[in-house]
Amino acid sequence: MAENRFRVEPGTRVSLDRHDPADTGGLTKKQALEELDERRERLKELQELLYATRRYALLVILQGTDTSGKDGAIKHVMSAFNPQGVQVTSFKTPTPEEQAHDFLWRVHRAVPPKGMVGIFNRSQYEDVLIVRVEELVPRKVWERRYEAINHFEELLAQSGVVICKFFLHISKEEQRERLLDRLKERDSHWKFRPEDLAARAKWEEYQAAYEDALSRCSTDHAPWHIIPADKKWYRNLAISQVLEEKLAALNLEWPPLQPEAKGLIIT
Ligand code: AMP
Ligand code: MG
Repeated sequence: MAENRFRVEPGTRVSLDRHDPADTGGLTKKQALEELDERRERLKELQELLYATRRYALLVILQGTDTSGKDGAIKHVMSAFNPQGVQVTSFKTPTPEEQAHDFLWRVHRAVPPKGMVGIFNRSQYEDVLIVRVEELVPRKVWERRYEAINHFEELLAQSGVVICKFFLHISKEEQRERLLDRLKERDSHWKFRPEDLAARAKWEEYQAAYEDALSRCSTDHAPWHIIPADKKWYRNLAISQVLEEKLAALNLEWPPLQPEAKGLIIT
């Protein structure tokens, strides 16, 4: 399973119909769970190296419709990391203070410093997704944002931020099942928000907005990955695999003992 299985090649036009949300890469659930365990071990080591060397930051961006598994991915994959080196930011409807600034202001503040992993549960992409579909700003305003986002991400990449963007791709039918589960299960009632049905009613508009974001903002410095997410176990494995490859490619090495520490005797 190579990284480019999920990667959106920069400059290509994404059609989500051509990506099967139920894809499992030919694996069984048992195989996938076993492999995830191994990859979580590797991710733990690689994160420690990132933390120790402080040369790069890792920014993980999770986007996808309600119930697509953004929270689940954080719980089952990112939990491999030491909490001390991780900061999670969930982007909600902007506050009045955030509204008073440019759309990237709150996002830039949340970017992880070198050594840290930052996880974005939703992100700057909401400003070309819900904002576009719900017409919260005029078209000419959101149209300019794709370019602004690309420049912003390029700046981050040049400053040592490794960006991993994941679109969690689920089918409309799978979302129906998950919403029904939320209504049925006592411990999931809190997750059900009637507003989510309004977004579901605009499924096609959202798919078109995702296709534009995926097509226009997959770049060499910050490529998108389309993750088949109907099967939670495959979603988790796929994300862990991309993260492992990204971190391993940095070829980080343990920092050496400081010169002053050589020859010291600890009594
Ligand atoms: P949740 O992730 O389920 O807690 O919901 C957060 C809500 O905030 C979602 O409906 C998002 O679409 C919405 N949201 C996030 N960012 C923005 C934004 N920039 N403008 C408008 N709504 C947003
Ligand atoms: Mg939600």
